[in-house]
Amino acid sequence: MSRYTGPVCRLCRAEGAKLFLKGDRCYTAKCGFTKRNSRPGQHGTRRQKMSVYGLHLREKQKLRRFYCLNETQFATVYEKATKMAGQAGHNFLQLLECRIDNVVYRLGFAVSRSQARQLVRHGHFTVNGHKLDIPSALLKPNDVIAVAEGSKEINLIKENVETSAARTIPAWLSVNVEAMSGSIVAIPIREQIDVPVDEQLVVEFYAR
Ligand code: SF4
Repeated sequence: MSRYTGPVCRLCRAEGAKLFLKGDRCYTAKCGFTKRNSRPGQHGTRRQKMSVYGLHLREKQKLRRFYCLNETQFATVYEKATKMAGQAGHNFLQLLECRIDNVVYRLGFAVSRSQARQLVRHGHFTVNGHKLDIPSALLKPNDVIAVAEGSKEINLIKENVETSAARTIPAWLSVNVEAMSGSIVAIPIREQIDVPVDEQLVVEFYAR
């Protein structure tokens, strides 16, 4: 499936939740969802009766859009989660969180997951001293992710890192603003993953 290139605030309104797709704007009063939280379209303000399938589908779409993945990428991560020991829903969220593009975003080195993905793909980050430009790469505890030496003077990255100090960094990560680096302290537990989604409904969507 092709990449969505339309207005992203529409996605938040369609899913009925803030998905934080637009960087700093998401934290201001200019947020499209804050200003108008009805579903997009002519009949968006009408009450919607949802089937059980619809409920599962919407929850899956919400989670997928939250992490900015296409259907194939998302289903691949889910498949991997089902092969791990433990609850599939928790495994799924942990795998999504440990992707390098998500970690770059969570550390505050990018203003959105889509920007993080682009920065990673362009080779601006290293993991344990080696360049890593695959956004889906999974990180593990004690991995150190840093801005690549040649990218430290790029204005966009410098601004992101400087403002990252003002952001809330999850407890499972640690950041060193001066060194432009961060590390994974531990795999996040469910309580540390702030996604507005019931992952069990997503599991039921795929299990149907
Ligand atoms: Fe969603 Fe608001 Fe960010 Fe737009 S500005 S992407 S509506 S959270």
